[in-house]
Amino acid sequence: MAEERQIRHVTVYGAGIMGRGIAYVALLGGYHCTLVDINASILEAAKREIEGFFDEGIRRGKVAPDEKLNGLERLTLSTDIERSAQAADFVIEAVPEDMKLKLDLLSRVEARVAETVVIASNTSSLSITELGAALEDPTRFAGMHFFNPVPRMKLVEIVRGLETTDKTVRIIETVARGMGKAVVVVKDSPGFITSRMNALIGNEAFYMLMEGLATAEDIDRAIKLGLNHPMGPFEMVDMVGLDTRLAVLRFLHERLGEKYRPCPLLIQYVKAGRLGRKVGRGVYTYEKKDPSESERP
Ligand code: NAD
Repeated sequence: MAEERQIRHVTVYGAGIMGRGIAYVALLGGYHCTLVDINASILEAAKREIEGFFDEGIRRGKVAPDEKLNGLERLTLSTDIERSAQAADFVIEAVPEDMKLKLDLLSRVEARVAETVVIASNTSSLSITELGAALEDPTRFAGMHFFNPVPRMKLVEIVRGLETTDKTVRIIETVARGMGKAVVVVKDSPGFITSRMNALIGNEAFYMLMEGLATAEDIDRAIKLGLNHPMGPFEMVDMVGLDTRLAVLRFLHERLGEKYRPCPLLIQYVKAGRLGRKVGRGVYTYEKKDPSESERP
Protein backbone atom coordinates (compact mmCIF):
# COMPACT_ATOMS: atom_id res chain seq x y z
CA MET A 1 0.00 0.00 0.00
CA ALA A 2 1.19 3.55 -0.77
CA GLU A 3 3.41 4.97 1.93
CA GLU A 4 2.39 8.33 3.35
CA ARG A 5 5.11 10.35 1.66
CA GLN A 6 3.98 9.28 -1.82
CA ILE A 7 0.57 10.86 -1.54
CA ARG A 8 0.39 13.95 -3.69
CA HIS A 9 -2.94 13.78 -5.41
CA VAL A 10 -6.25 13.60 -3.53
CA THR A 11 -9.42 12.94 -5.50
CA VAL A 12 -12.68 14.02 -3.86
CA TYR A 13 -16.04 12.67 -5.11
CA GLY A 14 -19.02 14.97 -4.53
CA ALA A 15 -18.59 18.76 -4.70
CA GLY A 16 -21.44 19.64 -2.32
CA ILE A 17 -21.23 21.25 1.12
CA MET A 18 -18.59 18.83 2.36
CA GLY A 19 -16.64 17.92 -0.79
CA ARG A 20 -15.75 21.52 -1.62
CA GLY A 21 -14.55 22.13 1.95
CA ILE A 22 -12.45 18.97 1.83
CA ALA A 23 -10.95 20.04 -1.53
CA TYR A 24 -10.06 23.42 -0.02
CA VAL A 25 -8.21 21.94 2.98
CA ALA A 26 -6.45 19.48 0.64
CA LEU A 27 -5.19 22.38 -1.52
CA LEU A 28 -4.20 24.33 1.58
CA GLY A 29 -2.25 21.28 2.71
CA GLY A 30 -0.25 21.35 -0.54
CA TYR A 31 -1.97 18.41 -2.25
CA HIS A 32 -3.09 18.33 -5.85
CA CYS A 33 -6.82 17.85 -5.84
CA THR A 34 -9.35 16.63 -8.38
CA LEU A 35 -12.90 17.50 -7.37
CA VAL A 36 -15.47 15.31 -9.09
CA ASP A 37 -19.23 15.75 -9.39
CA ILE A 38 -21.89 14.49 -11.77
CA ASN A 39 -23.12 18.07 -12.14
CA ALA A 40 -20.84 20.59 -13.92
CA SER A 41 -22.63 23.66 -12.53
CA ILE A 42 -22.11 22.38 -8.98
CA LEU A 43 -18.41 22.09 -9.76
CA GLU A 44 -18.28 25.71 -10.92
CA ALA A 45 -20.12 26.84 -7.78
CA ALA A 46 -17.72 24.76 -5.68
CA LYS A 47 -14.73 26.43 -7.32
CA ARG A 48 -16.15 29.88 -6.56
CA GLU A 49 -16.70 28.88 -2.95
CA ILE A 50 -13.16 27.48 -2.67
CA GLU A 51 -11.85 30.84 -3.95
CA GLY A 52 -13.99 32.47 -1.26
CA PHE A 53 -12.46 30.18 1.42
CA PHE A 54 -8.98 31.29 0.30
CA ASP A 55 -10.07 34.96 0.35
CA GLU A 56 -11.48 34.55 3.83
CA GLY A 57 -8.21 32.93 4.97
CA ILE A 58 -6.23 35.83 3.48
CA ARG A 59 -8.53 38.39 5.11
CA ARG A 60 -8.02 36.72 8.48
CA GLY A 61 -4.23 36.62 7.97
CA LYS A 62 -4.13 32.80 8.02
CA VAL A 63 -3.36 32.27 4.32
CA ALA A 64 -0.75 34.01 2.14
CA PRO A 65 -2.00 35.44 -1.21
CA ASP A 66 0.32 33.18 -3.22
CA GLU A 67 -1.10 30.13 -1.43
CA LYS A 68 -4.37 30.98 -3.15
CA LEU A 69 -2.73 31.24 -6.57
CA ASN A 70 -0.72 28.06 -6.13
CA GLY A 71 -3.62 26.23 -4.54
CA LEU A 72 -6.05 27.01 -7.34
CA GLU A 73 -3.46 25.87 -9.89
CA ARG A 74 -3.45 22.48 -8.20
CA LEU A 75 -7.24 22.15 -8.46
CA THR A 76 -8.84 20.13 -11.29
CA LEU A 77 -12.60 19.87 -11.80
CA SER A 78 -14.06 16.78 -13.43
CA THR A 79 -17.36 15.08 -14.21
CA ASP A 80 -15.57 11.91 -15.28
CA ILE A 81 -15.70 9.46 -12.38
CA GLU A 82 -13.54 6.76 -13.93
CA ARG A 83 -10.83 8.93 -15.42
CA SER A 84 -10.37 11.03 -12.31
CA ALA A 85 -9.78 7.88 -10.28
CA GLN A 86 -6.71 7.08 -12.35
CA ALA A 87 -4.77 10.16 -11.17
CA ALA A 88 -5.61 9.59 -7.50
CA ASP A 89 -3.28 8.37 -4.84
CA PHE A 90 -5.86 8.99 -2.15
CA VAL A 91 -9.67 9.04 -2.53
CA ILE A 92 -12.37 10.60 -0.36
CA GLU A 93 -16.02 10.18 -1.25
CA ALA A 94 -18.51 12.85 -0.12
CA VAL A 95 -21.55 11.96 -2.22
CA PRO A 96 -25.05 11.96 -0.64
CA GLU A 97 -25.79 9.75 2.37
CA ASP A 98 -27.30 6.87 0.41
CA MET A 99 -25.89 3.37 0.80
CA LYS A 100 -26.70 2.25 -2.73
CA LEU A 101 -25.24 5.39 -4.33
CA LYS A 102 -22.07 5.13 -2.28
CA LEU A 103 -21.63 1.41 -2.99
CA ASP A 104 -21.99 2.00 -6.70
CA LEU A 105 -19.47 4.86 -6.69
CA LEU A 106 -16.97 3.05 -4.48
CA SER A 107 -16.86 -0.04 -6.65
CA ARG A 108 -16.49 2.06 -9.82
CA VAL A 109 -13.64 3.98 -8.22
CA GLU A 110 -11.94 0.88 -6.81
CA ALA A 111 -11.89 -0.69 -10.26
CA ARG A 112 -9.87 2.28 -11.60
CA VAL A 113 -7.47 3.32 -8.83
CA ALA A 114 -4.09 1.71 -8.30
CA GLU A 115 -4.24 -1.15 -5.80
CA THR A 116 -2.12 0.81 -3.33
CA VAL A 117 -4.63 3.67 -3.01
CA VAL A 118 -6.54 4.24 0.23
CA ILE A 119 -10.25 4.95 -0.20
CA ALA A 120 -12.07 6.91 2.52
CA SER A 121 -15.73 7.78 3.04
CA ASN A 122 -17.05 10.95 4.67
CA THR A 123 -20.28 9.20 5.67
CA SER A 124 -21.78 10.52 8.88
CA SER A 125 -23.85 7.45 9.75
CA LEU A 126 -23.50 4.50 7.37
CA SER A 127 -21.58 1.42 8.43
CA ILE A 128 -17.98 1.48 7.22
CA THR A 129 -17.81 -2.30 7.52
CA GLU A 130 -20.89 -2.67 5.30
CA LEU A 131 -19.60 -0.17 2.72
CA GLY A 132 -16.17 -1.84 2.79
CA ALA A 133 -17.69 -5.30 2.24
CA ALA A 134 -18.67 -4.22 -1.28
CA LEU A 135 -15.03 -3.57 -2.18
CA GLU A 136 -12.58 -6.13 -3.53
CA ASP A 137 -10.13 -5.00 -0.86
CA PRO A 138 -11.85 -3.69 2.29
CA THR A 139 -8.52 -3.45 4.12
CA ARG A 140 -7.73 -0.17 2.38
CA PHE A 141 -11.08 1.41 3.22
CA ALA A 142 -12.13 3.49 6.27
CA GLY A 143 -14.28 6.42 7.32
CA MET A 144 -12.83 9.92 7.28
CA HIS A 145 -15.53 12.00 8.93
CA PHE A 146 -15.06 15.75 8.47
CA PHE A 147 -17.26 18.36 10.14
CA ASN A 148 -19.19 21.25 8.69
CA PRO A 149 -17.88 23.85 7.90
CA VAL A 150 -14.74 21.92 6.93
CA PRO A 151 -12.37 24.92 6.72
CA ARG A 152 -13.13 25.86 10.34
CA MET A 153 -13.79 22.58 12.15
CA LYS A 154 -10.58 21.04 13.48
CA LEU A 155 -11.55 17.40 13.85
CA VAL A 156 -11.55 14.35 11.60
CA GLU A 157 -12.98 11.13 13.04
CA ILE A 158 -11.24 8.16 11.43
CA VAL A 159 -13.65 5.25 11.46
CA ARG A 160 -12.16 1.78 11.42
CA GLY A 161 -14.18 -0.92 9.70
CA LEU A 162 -13.78 -4.56 10.70
CA GLU A 163 -11.25 -5.17 7.91
CA THR A 164 -9.45 -1.80 7.93
CA THR A 165 -5.71 -2.25 8.51
CA ASP A 166 -3.43 -0.20 10.78
CA LYS A 167 -1.60 0.97 7.70
CA THR A 168 -4.78 2.39 6.19
CA VAL A 169 -5.53 4.23 9.43
CA ARG A 170 -1.97 5.59 9.53
CA ILE A 171 -2.19 6.86 5.95
CA ILE A 172 -5.51 8.60 6.62
CA GLU A 173 -4.05 10.14 9.78
CA THR A 174 -1.14 11.54 7.80
CA VAL A 175 -3.39 13.01 5.11
CA ALA A 176 -5.80 14.49 7.69
CA ARG A 177 -2.90 16.11 9.55
CA GLY A 178 -1.54 17.35 6.22
CA MET A 179 -4.91 19.07 5.79
CA GLY A 180 -4.43 20.75 9.17
CA LYS A 181 -6.85 18.54 11.10
CA ALA A 182 -6.60 16.77 14.44
CA VAL A 183 -7.69 13.14 14.39
CA VAL A 184 -9.37 10.60 16.62
CA VAL A 185 -9.75 6.93 15.72
CA VAL A 186 -13.01 5.17 16.48
CA LYS A 187 -14.33 1.67 15.75
CA ASP A 188 -17.16 1.43 13.26
CA SER A 189 -20.26 1.94 15.39
CA PRO A 190 -23.53 3.88 15.03
CA GLY A 191 -22.98 7.62 15.44
CA PHE A 192 -19.21 7.19 15.96
CA ILE A 193 -18.14 9.42 18.90
CA THR A 194 -19.50 12.82 18.04
CA SER A 195 -23.00 12.20 16.66
CA ARG A 196 -23.72 9.67 19.42
CA MET A 197 -22.72 12.06 22.21
CA ASN A 198 -24.40 15.06 20.61
CA ALA A 199 -27.67 13.19 20.11
CA LEU A 200 -27.74 12.11 23.75
CA ILE A 201 -27.10 15.61 25.11
CA GLY A 202 -29.67 17.10 22.75
CA ASN A 203 -32.30 14.51 23.67
CA GLU A 204 -31.74 15.04 27.40
CA ALA A 205 -32.25 18.78 26.90
CA PHE A 206 -35.67 18.07 25.35
CA TYR A 207 -36.60 15.85 28.32
CA MET A 208 -35.65 18.70 30.68
CA LEU A 209 -37.79 21.12 28.70
CA MET A 210 -40.71 18.66 28.62
CA GLU A 211 -40.49 18.21 32.40
CA GLY A 212 -40.63 22.00 32.84
CA LEU A 213 -37.29 21.97 34.64
CA ALA A 214 -36.21 25.30 33.19
CA THR A 215 -36.72 27.45 30.12
CA ALA A 216 -34.93 26.62 26.86
CA GLU A 217 -32.88 29.81 27.27
CA ASP A 218 -31.76 28.82 30.77
CA ILE A 219 -30.90 25.25 29.74
CA ASP A 220 -28.75 26.65 26.91
CA ARG A 221 -27.19 29.26 29.23
CA ALA A 222 -26.35 26.60 31.84
CA ILE A 223 -24.63 24.34 29.33
CA LYS A 224 -22.67 27.22 27.78
CA LEU A 225 -21.61 29.06 30.92
CA GLY A 226 -21.53 26.17 33.37
CA LEU A 227 -20.09 23.44 31.13
CA ASN A 228 -18.23 25.65 28.68
CA HIS A 229 -19.89 24.30 25.52
CA PRO A 230 -19.68 26.90 22.73
CA MET A 231 -23.37 26.42 21.89
CA GLY A 232 -26.39 25.39 23.93
CA PRO A 233 -28.17 22.14 22.94
CA PHE A 234 -31.22 24.01 21.61
CA GLU A 235 -29.14 26.47 19.60
CA MET A 236 -27.34 23.44 18.19
CA VAL A 237 -30.46 21.44 17.31
CA ASP A 238 -31.99 24.50 15.62
CA MET A 239 -28.89 24.66 13.44
CA VAL A 240 -28.74 20.91 12.75
CA GLY A 241 -32.47 20.65 12.01
CA LEU A 242 -34.91 18.96 14.42
CA ASP A 243 -35.95 16.46 11.74
CA THR A 244 -32.31 15.49 11.13
CA ARG A 245 -31.74 15.08 14.87
CA LEU A 246 -34.87 12.93 15.18
CA ALA A 247 -33.68 10.71 12.31
CA VAL A 248 -30.29 10.26 14.00
CA LEU A 249 -31.94 9.42 17.35
CA ARG A 250 -34.28 6.89 15.73
CA PHE A 251 -31.30 5.22 14.08
CA LEU A 252 -29.32 5.15 17.35
CA HIS A 253 -32.39 3.90 19.26
CA GLU A 254 -32.80 1.05 16.80
CA ARG A 255 -29.11 0.09 16.92
CA LEU A 256 -28.05 0.94 20.48
CA GLY A 257 -31.19 0.68 22.61
CA GLU A 258 -33.46 2.52 25.02
CA LYS A 259 -31.00 5.24 26.05
CA TYR A 260 -31.56 6.89 22.67
CA ARG A 261 -35.38 6.78 22.53
CA PRO A 262 -36.34 10.16 21.02
CA CYS A 263 -38.01 12.51 23.51
CA PRO A 264 -41.77 12.88 22.79
CA LEU A 265 -41.42 16.68 22.84
CA LEU A 266 -38.85 16.55 20.02
CA ILE A 267 -41.25 14.35 18.00
CA GLN A 268 -44.05 16.86 18.63
CA TYR A 269 -41.90 19.80 17.48
CA VAL A 270 -41.08 17.95 14.27
CA LYS A 271 -44.77 17.14 13.69
CA ALA A 272 -45.56 20.82 14.18
CA GLY A 273 -43.07 21.72 11.45
CA ARG A 274 -40.69 23.41 13.89
CA LEU A 275 -37.61 22.08 12.11
CA GLY A 276 -35.09 24.74 13.11
CA ARG A 277 -33.38 27.73 11.53
CA LYS A 278 -33.92 26.46 8.01
CA VAL A 279 -37.67 27.15 8.35
CA GLY A 280 -37.34 30.12 10.71
CA ARG A 281 -38.73 28.24 13.70
CA GLY A 282 -37.47 25.43 15.90
CA VAL A 283 -37.04 25.61 19.66
CA TYR A 284 -36.51 29.32 19.07
CA THR A 285 -38.11 31.63 16.52
CA TYR A 286 -35.90 33.43 14.01
CA GLU A 287 -36.54 36.72 12.24
CA LYS A 288 -36.42 35.13 8.83
CA LYS A 289 -35.37 31.77 7.55
CA ASP A 290 -31.68 31.39 6.90
CA PRO A 291 -31.15 29.16 3.86
CA SER A 292 -27.36 29.35 4.23
CA GLU A 293 -27.60 27.25 7.37
CA SER A 294 -26.56 23.74 6.50
CA GLU A 295 -27.48 20.60 8.32
CA ARG A 296 -25.17 18.79 10.59
CA PRO A 297 -25.82 15.16 11.12
P1 NAD B 1 -24.41 17.45 -0.75
O1 NAD B 1 -25.74 16.98 -1.18
O2 NAD B 1 -24.22 18.90 -0.41
O3 NAD B 1 -23.32 17.08 -1.87
C1 NAD B 1 -23.25 15.83 -2.49
C2 NAD B 1 -22.75 16.03 -3.93
O4 NAD B 1 -22.49 14.76 -4.50
C3 NAD B 1 -23.75 16.75 -4.84
O5 NAD B 1 -23.13 17.90 -5.39
C4 NAD B 1 -24.07 15.70 -5.92
O6 NAD B 1 -24.26 16.28 -7.21
C5 NAD B 1 -22.83 14.85 -5.88
N1 NAD B 1 -22.98 13.49 -6.40
C6 NAD B 1 -24.09 12.69 -6.39
N2 NAD B 1 -23.79 11.51 -6.95
C7 NAD B 1 -22.47 11.54 -7.32
C8 NAD B 1 -21.59 10.63 -7.94
N3 NAD B 1 -21.99 9.41 -8.28
N4 NAD B 1 -20.31 11.01 -8.18
C9 NAD B 1 -19.89 12.26 -7.84
N5 NAD B 1 -20.69 13.18 -7.24
C10 NAD B 1 -21.96 12.82 -6.98
O7 NAD B 1 -24.00 16.51 0.49
P2 NAD B 1 -23.04 16.87 1.72
O8 NAD B 1 -23.83 17.56 2.77
O9 NAD B 1 -21.77 17.45 1.19
O10 NAD B 1 -22.77 15.39 2.28
C11 NAD B 1 -21.90 14.50 1.65
C12 NAD B 1 -21.51 13.39 2.61
O11 NAD B 1 -20.89 13.97 3.77
C13 NAD B 1 -22.69 12.57 3.14
O12 NAD B 1 -22.26 11.24 3.31
C14 NAD B 1 -22.98 13.22 4.49
O13 NAD B 1 -23.61 12.34 5.40
C15 NAD B 1 -21.58 13.56 4.95
N6 NAD B 1 -21.50 14.64 5.95
C16 NAD B 1 -22.27 15.75 5.82
C17 NAD B 1 -22.14 16.79 6.76
C18 NAD B 1 -22.96 18.05 6.63
O14 NAD B 1 -23.05 18.83 7.60
N7 NAD B 1 -23.55 18.34 5.47
C19 NAD B 1 -21.22 16.66 7.82
C20 NAD B 1 -20.42 15.51 7.90
C21 NAD B 1 -20.57 14.49 6.95
